[in-house]
Amino acid sequence: MSEPNLFNPSDYLILAVDDTILNLKVLQGLLSPAGYRITFATSGKQVLGRVQRAKPDLILLDWMMPEMSGMEVCQQLKKTSETSHIPVIILTASHELEHLVKAFECGAVDHMTKPFRQAELLARVRIHLELNQLRKQAQVQAAWEGILRKIVQDIHASINLQDILDTTVQAIQRFLNADQVMVYRWCDPSGCELMAIAGNEAESSTCLHRMGCPYLQCNPYPMSMVELQQVSVAEPSTVLTEDKTGQTQEEIRISIYQDGLLWGGLVVQHSQLAPAFIQNVKEMLNLVAQQLAISIQHAGLHHRMREVNKELHRLSNTDGLTQVANRRCFDHRLAQEWQRSQREQQSLSLILCDIDYFKQFNDTYGHPSGDTCLVAVAQTLQQCLKRPADFLARYGGEEFVVLLPNTDLEGAIEVTQQMQQAIADLAITHIAHTHSTQVTLSFGITSVIPEFLTDTQDALNQADQALYEAKKAGRDRYAIAPQAARSTYL
Ligand SMILES: [Mg+2]
Repeated sequence: MSEPNLFNPSDYLILAVDDTILNLKVLQGLLSPAGYRITFATSGKQVLGRVQRAKPDLILLDWMMPEMSGMEVCQQLKKTSETSHIPVIILTASHELEHLVKAFECGAVDHMTKPFRQAELLARVRIHLELNQLRKQAQVQAAWEGILRKIVQDIHASINLQDILDTTVQAIQRFLNADQVMVYRWCDPSGCELMAIAGNEAESSTCLHRMGCPYLQCNPYPMSMVELQQVSVAEPSTVLTEDKTGQTQEEIRISIYQDGLLWGGLVVQHSQLAPAFIQNVKEMLNLVAQQLAISIQHAGLHHRMREVNKELHRLSNTDGLTQVANRRCFDHRLAQEWQRSQREQQSLSLILCDIDYFKQFNDTYGHPSGDTCLVAVAQTLQQCLKRPADFLARYGGEEFVVLLPNTDLEGAIEVTQQMQQAIADLAITHIAHTHSTQVTLSFGITSVIPEFLTDTQDALNQADQALYEAKKAGRDRYAIAPQAARSTYL
């Protein structure tokens, strides 16, 4: 609950209206000593102009005036939304019931009979100012509740933290007509990162520079997290600053916590907020900060879930041992590239390759060494692929497959030769090899321009057949599928 606002007469401006100057002097003599600020008008016409400019909190209005009567003035004031909320007390010398009824009918909140008694005048003025204040506070409360509902809706509607922060600062800035509203994130240990801002953007860099980290400002020496939290316990804090023009601004700062740790803060800079509303505003901002904390947590959880999903996706497409793509991922990629090549009538090359005498390698050196060999071969083949679209996968056992989009047969042969050289440079000893002392690979190459009546399996069969031919011809070599589309160059 908010503390009761202390009633301070100097917070209020009263417009006193009477065509008799002496009466105005009497009113001044009664109200000024009590601390009220007073402005005057001597005719109905003057009232309408002054009300627009001075925005008084209460009007004391003479009933009997030449040209425009108090009743007419009151009716005019009640017609306009900008002035209809200002309480009007009618001042009259008449005791006639008919006059009193008319005064209430035209929108006055009260009446007083001349001559005034000071105690009565002050009591009536104060009670109507307080009633009006309560009415305004109820309106503010209702509007804030609307904003809170909207923020909560946004939290549920969006999982994008930036959207939520932007919407929130804009809503607060609009509602309070604040100079600037910011959400910053505390960055250990140097200061704050500005996350969202509404209001005068041009001011933001100066403002942030000046603000630094509000908590560090309290103590220029580096503080530990625990100390920082202790500093920010007395929330919300209010700091007086000056804007560029030297006008005094108040800054309301509210901390946002995550898991009991300081995450950052909500800062509202204003120069026009009525003092009577500040406590209310602080309470509401506290609620907004709590909602923001929830949304920050939601967004954080969602972000982590996305990361986990990404990792799961990666794992499901990666061969656990060699860390290159697996067969499942290759099948998907081949189908995609096949369709694209078919549409664009571009060459697509496939290379199937296999480690020669791998069974003997495992028998000689053991399976752990076999695994090490597979990893080394996979990584070496991967490094031979230079273009982003080129793709290597473990096809099964000691077999690998290479997919080269937009690559004709000559290109595929070139890549194969580079792979052969890279494997030779790797120089993994293999004493069980029949005609070499180190690990070699056999390659089957095909290159096709996909037709509508062919499918991926045809191309894979061609590469597989070519690999078989390479093995049959003595291994450690490549063979080209007879159906492979040769350019006229070869
Ligand atoms: Mg008069």
